This record gives sequence, structure tokens and C-alpha cells, in this order.
Amino acid sequence: MKCKKVERFLLRSFDKLFKEEEKNELKKHLETCALCHAKREEYQSIFDALKEKNFPEPKPYFWERLQPKLAKREKYDPWSLWKQWALRAIPASLLVVILFAAAIILFIPPQKEELSESENLLLRNRDTLQ
Ligand SMILES: [Zn+2]
Repeated sequence: MKCKKVERFLLRSFDKLFKEEEKNELKKHLETCALCHAKREEYQSIFDALKEKNFPEPKPYFWERLQPKLAKREKYDPWSLWKQWALRAIPASLLVVILFAAAIILFIPPQKEELSESENLLLRNRDTLQ
């Protein structure tokens, strides 16, 4: 077993989510590897410190004060979620339309206009009959 794998196993070993063979493998590695052994000691001291900790009791009437606040909180409303989404989608779709229009204007070359003979003569001063 490699040290990297051992670290994952160490955490699981504290949760006691372990098969017997994994436990033996881990034990064997810990006997030979000083680094992992030290890591196990470190984890053990952290878990011990967490167990010793006395968590404070909530203040009196905590639940009595909390429950009306929870009841007052707005209920889940899918329509308001859609409205928020739509409001964000409007500027995004406008931006897409503007970019698309700009791309059309900038990147599509203007087609050459076919002018009639009189237009050629008048506008470009070109006589097509010559
Ligand atoms: Zn190791």
C-alpha cells in the first residue's frame, strides 16, 4: 500500500468503515512507515480533541425563537425563480442579437450591384455600349 492511499484509509479507519483485510493492510503499512504512523497519531489527537470539546447549550428559548422565524421565511416559489432567470436572460439575448447583427454587417461582403445601362451611364459615367 502506498502512503497516499494510506492517508485516505486513515480517515476511513476513524469512521470504522473498514474491511478486515484493509485494516490489516493499513496496520502493516503503519508498522513500517514512520511518516504515516506520525500522521495517524496526528489524526488521532485531532479526533480526541474534538470529542473532548463540550459544545455549549443553546440559549434558553432558542427553539421557541427560531421556529417563528423559520415559519415566516418565504416558501419556495418556482415562479419567482423563473422571473429572476428571465430577467437575466433578457440582456444576454439582446447581446447575442447585437453580436449576430454586427457579425453579419462586418463579415459578409456586400454584393456587387448590377446596374442598368442608364444607371452606369448616369452614376458611374461609364458608357456600356463602347
Ligand atoms: Zn507511508
